[in-house]
Amino acid sequence: MGRRDRPIEGHMPDQNLREPLRFGDIVGQELAIAVLRASLTSGRLAHAYMFRGPSGCGKATTGRVFARYLLCSEVSEGKSQEPCGQCPSCVRFSYGTHPDFFDVGKGQRTIKIEDSHQMIEDSMKKPFLASRKVFLLRDVENMTREASNALLKALEEPPPSTCFVLTSSNPAAVPDTVISRCQAVPFRPLPVKALVHIISGLRDVTPGVALEAARFAAGSVEKALLLLDAQDGACGSHTLLEEALGESPIVQAERYSHMDAEGQRQFLDSLGVDLEKCLELSLESQSEETKKGANEGNFRFYRDCLLSVMKAKRRLERNVSPFLTFAGLFFELRQLSSQEKRSE
Ligand SMILES: [Zn+2]
Repeated sequence: MGRRDRPIEGHMPDQNLREPLRFGDIVGQELAIAVLRASLTSGRLAHAYMFRGPSGCGKATTGRVFARYLLCSEVSEGKSQEPCGQCPSCVRFSYGTHPDFFDVGKGQRTIKIEDSHQMIEDSMKKPFLASRKVFLLRDVENMTREASNALLKALEEPPPSTCFVLTSSNPAAVPDTVISRCQAVPFRPLPVKALVHIISGLRDVTPGVALEAARFAAGSVEKALLLLDAQDGACGSHTLLEEALGESPIVQAERYSHMDAEGQRQFLDSLGVDLEKCLELSLESQSEETKKGANEGNFRFYRDCLLSVMKAKRRLERNVSPFLTFAGLFFELRQLSSQEKRSE
């Protein structure tokens, strides 16, 4: 969720967040949903799940939706296959005040030992409202060693009526002892189409802007929203990118060649940093076992764009005419972009 859309916790139902409420609202993660549905309908829920896949592809969002199924009294009693939205559990969840749902370490960079201790203490208590308690732990690869040792203890002897949902974009960095106690749920980088659909629901943007952000986001909603929200800032990378691909290369080369040297350098640096991030993201998703090959194209595209930006920087350092440098850069970016579009 973007900062602009985030409600004050516990004061607003999250329908306003446009957060998915049911599995059917989640796009692009059919395999993960199938695994979770099978788990729910078999009646043999695991004590712990590991949602593994690239960052920003919807693991934590799906974890929250899964929690709705686990907590809804209609689903628990077998009266419904979908969260009803009406029972006390569903209502409290929507208001962000469900006493049996724990978003451990939410908003923190890492889950610390004190979070783990609190979690273990909470897991020992009986559920208050629902038939079980659900603990969502995001990005467990970032847990401190002490915290993950404490988590391991909880996974080894899971308290009754407790479900742990762990997410990780780098499962290789999670201790095997933790991994082996979780049922794996595979997530994949979101296809461009799914990303466009999701970000169009979250932000008021034109289809063209949504598509541009989606193509640069390497399968990550997080990244796409960062690109879009950067437009609010003075030096948004998406604005840079849009400019780089939007106007005629000559018009733009005119504009940037009239900037002072410092401004020119800053522009190229910002564009370079942004492309590096995209490259990193597409590399991450490539190394995932769930990759579908779709990101190899993305990877090449970002790499080639980045090479063009670096070339432009070197040219400026060697005092090549700024106009020629920028015209060359914008031509190349445009060419790469149209190649990329053709191969999609
Ligand atoms: Zn319900």
